[in-house]
Amino acid sequence: CGIVGYVSSAPVADVDHTALDVVLAGLKRLEYRGYDSAGVALVTPDGELATAKKAGKLSNLTDDLEANALPLAQTGIGHTRWATHGGPTDVNAHPHLADGGRLALIHNGIIENFAQLKAPLVAEGFEFTSETDTEVAAAQLAKNYRATGDLTAAMRETAAQLEGAFTLLAVHADLPGTVVAARRNSPLVIGLGEGENFLGSDVAAFIDYTRTAVEIGQDEVVTITPDSVVITDLAGKVVPGEQFEVDWDT
Ligand code: GLU
Repeated sequence: CGIVGYVSSAPVADVDHTALDVVLAGLKRLEYRGYDSAGVALVTPDGELATAKKAGKLSNLTDDLEANALPLAQTGIGHTRWATHGGPTDVNAHPHLADGGRLALIHNGIIENFAQLKAPLVAEGFEFTSETDTEVAAAQLAKNYRATGDLTAAMRETAAQLEGAFTLLAVHADLPGTVVAARRNSPLVIGLGEGENFLGSDVAAFIDYTRTAVEIGQDEVVTITPDSVVITDLAGKVVPGEQFEVDWDT
């Protein structure tokens, strides 16, 4: 299972790698981790959220993307799933949507208390279409975002409410150029570029584009934009993050 995130400030018409190119290349690099489904979410510069997801090999997703092209975007997230809650179907594949289809969330790991969180959300009118633990985190994040109007603060609150292991990445149609992430007991690392930044399960996700990386600690939340990376703990205190150079041959 693998996770990739990407943001760039370059106009989509001017670049040789769109968000979709970067995200798919990252997922390909992370294939060695194993998976049963794959999916992507993009946010266009004018705030349109577009997604695609398919059970099976990455080629099932890329075939679907060839048949049904997504709009060009420079903000994107991508996921390969190793199913734990709900079988490996198209519906259970990530991303999972919330906030009327304006928020997309991807997750590696297991949310132990998803059933306890789901019951009150259902009572409040949140609707669920999959059998996954992940969709509960998407709904919870949407609820917290509605309450705060701040996706990063909402991610911190969500991470504090979740039990278990997670790498979470989210994008919202309100926020082109922003990816918000959190991690606990599951890997996530930042890649630093020029006018572009990356997130990945490991450095393989972005090694084709940058070799400068930043560690994200346990129970930390990170927000990337094309020219900023901010890491905080769950109380909202800014954490410096340790920078390192990747020195592999690829
Ligand atoms: N628990 C989640 C699911 O079953 C995420 C699995 C994963 O790590 O890919 O959908």
